[in-house]
Amino acid sequence: MESTIDTLSGAILAGLSCRCPRCGRGKLFRGFLAPGPRCEVCGLDYSFADAGDGPAVFIMFLAGFIVVGAALVTEVLYQPPLWVHAALWLPLILIVTLGPLRPMKGLMIALQYHHKAAEGRFRGGQP
Ligand SMILES: [Zn+2]
Repeated sequence: MESTIDTLSGAILAGLSCRCPRCGRGKLFRGFLAPGPRCEVCGLDYSFADAGDGPAVFIMFLAGFIVVGAALVTEVLYQPPLWVHAALWLPLILIVTLGPLRPMKGLMIALQYHHKAAEGRFRGGQP
């Protein structure tokens, strides 16, 4: 029987909620961004989970677009003093980078599991 976690949308939901990509119930992370050793519900070994810099890259593009765009529009329309820019954009940078980092990493690990993505390996001459 195919559970909802086997579908792409189920994997996306499990990843965004930082849950195990196989059962969708166990916690994925032990710390803020460190995956635990295995799922406490289904026992899935999380050693495959390596999202690398992927989540940070996506968030940097998105956060840069939002913050730089907002700062440019504000500067062109209002020309506020520099302290206003600092007061507005520094907290916004923290919100739009640290906020989505954990769900984005969970999403990438869930998609990695769903698509069975792994590093390329030689198979000893077998085609
Ligand atoms: Zn699990």
